[in-house]
Formats: sequence, C-alpha cells, structure tokens
Amino acid sequence: MTRRRRIVRSVGPNRSDDESLPPALSRREWLRLAGAGAAVGLLASHTAAAQQRALPPRCIVRPEQTEGPYFLDERLERSDIRADAGAGSIAAGVPLELTFRVSGIAGERCAPLRGAIVDVWQCDVLGVYSGFADANGYFDTRERSFLRGYQVTGEDGTARFTTIYPGWYPGRTVHIHFKIRTDPTAGRRAVTSQLYFDDALTDAVHAREPYAAKGRRRVTNANDGIFRRGGRELMLPVVAQADGYAGAFDIGLRL
Ligand code: FE
Repeated sequence: MTRRRRIVRSVGPNRSDDESLPPALSRREWLRLAGAGAAVGLLASHTAAAQQRALPPRCIVRPEQTEGPYFLDERLERSDIRADAGAGSIAAGVPLELTFRVSGIAGERCAPLRGAIVDVWQCDVLGVYSGFADANGYFDTRERSFLRGYQVTGEDGTARFTTIYPGWYPGRTVHIHFKIRTDPTAGRRAVTSQLYFDDALTDAVHAREPYAAKGRRRVTNANDGIFRRGGRELMLPVVAQADGYAGAFDIGLRL
C-alpha cells in the first residue's frame, strides 16, 4: 500500500501530549467569547456555562486542548477506524460507537453544522498510536493506520465512528483526540480537543483483556495536567450496548 503521506516523529514512551503543547488555538477564541482578558483556565469552566444559557441544549461550546504529537493529517475518510489496511487487521478492544453532534453558532443562532470535517485519533489497547516510530524502539507503527480517520457531518450535523475504548500510555489519563474543521485550509476555524471517560468505567474496562495485559494505569482524570484544563466539560457520556459502549458528544462551533 502506498501511503500518500508519512510523517515520522520519534516519541519516547514516557513522553506525554503535554510536552509538545502548541500555542493554544483556543486562547483568542475564548477571550473573544468572554469579551474580557480573564484567565483561559477560568473561562473553560465559567464562560462556556454562561454561553450555554442563551443557546439550545446541544449547542455546547467546549474547551479546546492540545493537539499533542500524534495527529496526522492523512485525510483517511472512514467510519470504522479500527481497520488497519496496512496490516489487514482490526484493532482489538471493547467496541465504542462514537457520535459527534456538531452545531454551528452564529450570534444567537445555532443549527446542526453540515459539512464539518471531524478527525479522530487515539491509542490502541496497549497505548500505541499508529503512524509513528518510538525513539527507543518500543514500537514502530509508521506503516500502520489503525485508530485514526475522519468523517464529514451530514445534514443533521452528525459524524459517526466505530472505534474501541482506548488503552493508556504513560503521563496521560485515557482520552480520544479530535479535531473539527469547517475549512481545512483555515486553521482559525478549527476546534481541537480531547474526550475523556469516567474513571470508574475505565477501571472496569481496563480490568478486562486485552487491556489488562498492560497493567494498571497510573494517571487518572484528576491527576492529568491536560484534563485539569477543561476536561470536565469534555467527558464523553457513554451507555452500554451489545458488547461495548456508545457515546454521543455535542459540540458547538463559533462560525
Ligand atoms: Fe494522546
């Protein structure tokens, strides 16, 4: 298989998303939303709530968070991101049906946002991302494509993915990265953030194989430095279904 684009970055096993923190894309947006120069951390917890009062229930402006080191802009369009074309395999793990319900907010108006590009990327049950080589040789997934891809929202603003409940890697609590773009050439109209899970649910899922083979995680939501910056507003509500879980996440974008 010929990959259109291959970026190789070496990332050690103890390196977290936090260490490559880019300038917060959200800062200017949050400040503008607030209409004041208050600290971003405060805005993450208070401004969104204030904004919500004037908007329909699904029009929830969420805090942005770091993209981290593992995003690849490969334009891999697919709903089931478990597949790995390079290896001809499907990522193991507890199935997770992940739905984004994207709204566009313009002034006091809010409506389902059609045509938004929703990218998702996450680690596998052992805490490994596809598309990278570890500097210390712990893994080399440069020719792999599991657990990443994008969907375009339909008329109802919805984008659906089939994935797995994520594993963990050192320095981070369990999370799924996402990026929503209304125009991929205009970074200003992008929202990049992360989804989080209830810690008790994670403990239950990770007690099962194949997660259990990696051992117990060391970082929970409460002691993750990135989670602390708005993570409570980025929790994915999930319900059990069939052999896994389903979760829908509402998010509003300022247009
Ligand atoms: Fe990550």
